[in-house]
Amino acid sequence: MTTNQTIDGVPLLPCPFCGGEPYGTHDHYVYDDLSPMPCVECQSCSAHLKAEDWNRRVQPAPVAVVLPERSNQDYAIEHAEYMALSADDVLAKFQAYGLALLAVDEGGDDGEGELLENIDSARSNLQESLVELRSMVYEFRKRSAKSR
Ligand SMILES: [Zn+2]
Repeated sequence: MTTNQTIDGVPLLPCPFCGGEPYGTHDHYVYDDLSPMPCVECQSCSAHLKAEDWNRRVQPAPVAVVLPERSNQDYAIEHAEYMALSADDVLAKFQAYGLALLAVDEGGDDGEGELLENIDSARSNLQESLVELRSMVYEFRKRSAKSR
């Protein structure tokens, strides 16, 4: 049985329980804010479901989306992107470290202890980023070698 009934522009399939003619209504369900939710009711057996569930009940299960197979080259390029981000991070941390050193040279308004603490934390941030970059380069080379 086919029907021309629609709800919110989506054509309705026959009743999943009895095959009867469906119609759209807003009588049975509400959203969290209590505004009426579109739903579907069967003219024959009065079964009703949320609009989103009605068509789902009678449709075959959707076919799993098959992603195109990714090549080793794709993986290498993807990892090159991570490596570039990591390099950007190192550059930013390096710049921050340079600025922290400069602040001591210039003898800013902050106490010297605080300036030295800033240098320490900038240096350890830089070291962390360098360690990450090193592992990114290592991972990239592995993938790059596989793609050849
Ligand atoms: Zn029905």
